[in-house]
Amino acid sequence: MIVQCENVANLKMNACDQNFMKDALAFARAAGACGEVPVGALVVADGRVVGTGFNRREERQSPLAHAEITAIEEASRRLGSWRLNDCDLYVTLEPCIMCAGAILQARIQRLVFGCLDPKAGAVESLYRLCEDQRLNHQLPVIGGVLADESAALLADFFAQLRQQKRDTRKAERWPSPVEGA
Ligand code: ZN
Repeated sequence: MIVQCENVANLKMNACDQNFMKDALAFARAAGACGEVPVGALVVADGRVVGTGFNRREERQSPLAHAEITAIEEASRRLGSWRLNDCDLYVTLEPCIMCAGAILQARIQRLVFGCLDPKAGAVESLYRLCEDQRLNHQLPVIGGVLADESAALLADFFAQLRQQKRDTRKAERWPSPVEGA
């Protein structure tokens, strides 16, 4: 298990983190089963899950329908507050700029994520928004929790997508005798 962002103070990964990440992975799998990029998220307050979400961008045709946003919205609804300063957020993939922004807006107290997103990650890969002192909120970030599982889920999903595209192209080039008649 790799703990990244080691320079951030107050970093402690515990057994609960792995358990909650397992739950987040279950939501990521649910997204994948619906043909969505498999990313899952949970908001946890005092050891209790108060919000869940998975990526539903295709279903909702919304660029905002990321797992973290859905989980934060549900937690805010349930707790009756936009301030989630007693809550931890678990997500299987490093948050993007939008989601890091939402995490800061919600005053999330701690972020735990699975694998890095080298192309869009905004808490370690491209930006380090959660520890930017120019912003009015900072929070500890723990990365790499069950990262291999999270990354494998994404890799399998995209491999399957590429295979489907190849099959479609093949079918277009060589129609079956019935279709070609
Ligand atoms: Zn996002």
